[in-house]
Order: sequence, then C-alpha cells, then structure tokens
Amino acid sequence: MSKIVSLSKRRGFIFQSSEIYGGVEALWDYGPLGSLLKNNIKKEWLERFVQLRDDVVLIDGAIIMNPNVWKASGHLEHFADPLVECKDCHSRYRADHMADGRFIGEGKAKEKNQCPQCGGKNFTSSKQFNLMFKTFLGPIEDETHQAYLRPETAQSMFTNFKQVQESMRLKIPFGIAQIGRSFRNEITTGNFTFRSREFDLAEIEYFVKPGEDEKIFEQWVNEWEKFIVGLGIKKENLRRYEHKKEALSHYSKRTIDIEYKFPFGWSELTGIANRTNYDLSQHSKFSGKELAYFDEETKEKYIPFVIEPSLGIDRLLLALLVDAYQEVKGGRTETTESTKEEEVVLRLNKKIAPIKVAVLPLVKNKEEITKKAKEVYQLLKPNFICQYDEVGSIGRRYRRQDEIGTPFAITIDFETLEKDDVTIRDKDTMKQERVKIKDLINILKEKLENV
Ligand code: ATP
Repeated sequence: MSKIVSLSKRRGFIFQSSEIYGGVEALWDYGPLGSLLKNNIKKEWLERFVQLRDDVVLIDGAIIMNPNVWKASGHLEHFADPLVECKDCHSRYRADHMADGRFIGEGKAKEKNQCPQCGGKNFTSSKQFNLMFKTFLGPIEDETHQAYLRPETAQSMFTNFKQVQESMRLKIPFGIAQIGRSFRNEITTGNFTFRSREFDLAEIEYFVKPGEDEKIFEQWVNEWEKFIVGLGIKKENLRRYEHKKEALSHYSKRTIDIEYKFPFGWSELTGIANRTNYDLSQHSKFSGKELAYFDEETKEKYIPFVIEPSLGIDRLLLALLVDAYQEVKGGRTETTESTKEEEVVLRLNKKIAPIKVAVLPLVKNKEEITKKAKEVYQLLKPNFICQYDEVGSIGRRYRRQDEIGTPFAITIDFETLEKDDVTIRDKDTMKQERVKIKDLINILKEKLENV
C-alpha cells in the first residue's frame, strides 16, 4: 500500500488534503492525473449504465436535503456505528471492528480489543455514533435549522421517483442513476482513500415490480461485476460476500458485496442491495404524497421494489491502481546496456488511462526535432489527452510514462524530418512501429478503441 501512496503523491494522482497544514484525516485531493483517471472511470460508468441502456436515466440531486428525508429513510436512527473510547489515551474506535480483530497488527494492538495507540484494554461501553455530518440551513444555528450532508446519493432518487417517472414517461422496470459526493463521519479511517470522509458514489435505484426483485437482483450483481472486470480488475482479485440475515441494513432484504483483495486484505469494493419498497413507503408515509406506480396495461397499482447497486468511485480507483501496479526487477529493456534499475509499469486499461499519448522528441537540443514534436503535439491535442516531454533521456521518459499508465508514446526522431513519420511505442508490449504523421490520429483512435 505504501508504494501506491508514494506513486500517487509523486506522480500527481492523489494528495493529502490541506497537506501544508499537516493534512486532515481521511480527506484527499485528486491531483492532475488522479482527476483525469477519476473522470474517465465516471465516463465509463455513465456510458455503460446510462448511455447504452434505454431503461436508466441520470439525475444530479442536491447534497443537502430536507432534514425530514433522513427521518423517513431511517438514517437519523440507524445510520450509526458502535463507538468505544480508550479510557487511557482517549482514542476512538469502531467497537465491531475492534471485537473482530481488525486492528491486530496496527500500532500496539497485538490481540482483539486492544488499543492500537497505547496498547490499553480499558474501554468505555459502546454507544451509537451517527455518521452523518451536520450543518445548518440559514443563519440560525439551532436544532430546528439543522441539516445533514448526504451519506448516500440514493435518497434524492427516491424523493424524485414520481417526477422522473412522469416527466420521462418511464415504465417499470426502470432505473435512476446518480454520481455524486457523499459524506460520512467515519470513526476509524486509514488505508489511504479506502475509507474517506468525503467520496463519490455511483448508484442506481432500479424500480421493479414486487415479485420480480429477486431475479433482477441477481442480474444486477452480474452486471456490476462485469463492469468492474471490464475496467481491468483481475477476476481472481474479486469475490462475493453475502450479508447474513441478522447483519442486513435496516432497509435490506438481501445484500451482496463484491470484495477486492486489497493489500490490507479482502474488503468491500461495492455492494448490491435489495431495498424492497422500504424507502418509497417511508417517504410516502412521512411526506403524505402518493408514491405508488400505476401500471396502465395491467391496471395494477403498487409501490415498486428497488434494487440498488452502489459503488464508491474512489474505492474503485484505489483498487484499479493496486491491480495495475507492477514492479519489474531489473527493468524491461533488453536492448540497451543502461543501468538495469527497477521499473514500475501501471497496467491501466487504455480506456481509463489519464494520459493517452505522450509526445517525445528524441533529443532536446535539435531545434528542428523539438519544433516538429511540438507540431505533432498540437495536432494530437484536440483528439487525445496528451503530454509533451523533452526532459531526460528517451528511455527515462518512456519509463516515466509507463509509471503513469500512458498507453502510447510518439517519438519524433531524425527520420521524421525526412519522411514525415514517427514511431508509436506501446507501453505494454514495448513494440514500436513507424507510421506517417498524416495517419497518426486515425491509427491512435483505432488503437485506443480496440481494448
Ligand atoms: P462499511 O461497512 O465498510 O462502513 P458500508 O457497508 O456502510 O461500508 P455502503 O453503505 O454499502 O458501505 O456503501 C456503498 C459503497 O460506497 C461501498 O461499497 C464503497 O464502495 C463506498 N463507500 C462507503 N463508505 C466509504 C468511505 N468511507 N470511503 C470511500 N468509499 C466508501
């Protein structure tokens, strides 16, 4: 994990938030490459689940909602974790994580129920700690003006169910999708971005006829897993975990997590829940508004069941980095005698790689070559996210691009000046081919689409 953290910082993927002030726990900023990578993941998700499907539409709801939403949804009552405090050093932990031994090996914790900070075993009894961040609406900071930052995007898809269905003339089954910021005041953090206090969630609320829910639930588990594998995560690093009946969330009839084999162990990457008609029924009760669906064909009226696949984009991005990271002892180059140092190759899927094409003049000190390289760069820029780099030996520059997962490097050399062609180097195979500059855009487009 420390290698991923170091690469992320060194190469501009992820920084600690407010680092110059000593940082702030469990909050992260995405740097230039991390932001591009994150956007590409979101783009893939939107393409697959909104653009390519006829039955899912997108919304973008507000982060702060009417506080009654959270009463109705059960979050004010149930969205809490059991908290214990070490009586000796006042560190706080999740009681369930402590009891099942997750802290063993961290700091001074050698066994279950031992404080990682001081090794103490003297804890307060556990009390429920609500994970929702509080804020106030308007200038008066009292309980009646209290509001919450959403801990999931789902609720605005429920409160907008009728408006979306009617305005888009949708028939069940259909889904509402949303990607957006969510906030959880997590008690225990750590493991880099895995458990952050602010993160992006990509969720779908898929409304179905009661009775069809179990079959459609299975379909979504498969769809969701296919999407993750399609982004390049190795199948052997994924497994499914079925929640036990007694451990299900208050709204769920069935939940399956897809877990990823992170360096710190198998952990939840994403979850799919059968939320039944719980949320729509609750909102109907609390708002006094009818949220049932009327089927024009069968003349049936019912409150739909909801299947919810829910995916943390930041967690997926972390898993993708871990999965793509490869160290090659002694380097991959066999053609040069240069020092064989360890190389890092980020084997990211081309679709999500932050930089698609690097443009590299063979040498920096020949003006004709750098001028031509800059022309090629300008030619490619409107079509692909490109990076121009002329600093250091060509081998070193290839390695810099390999380390950030750039699929293709274009090199402009002496031959280019005579023949108007360049080499394209493939990061994964390291093979080079010469192509005419006039064909470059089409060839690159084809290579990038052909994943
Ligand atoms: P946990 O039990 O680990 O606290 P959870 O079961 O409460 O998690 P869900 O409510 O199922 O999590 O959240 C849906 C998805 O949101 C998760 O599968 C994960 O991808 C993401 N997620 C949840 N909490 C966080 C967080 N603190 N930081 C980053 N991503 C998160």
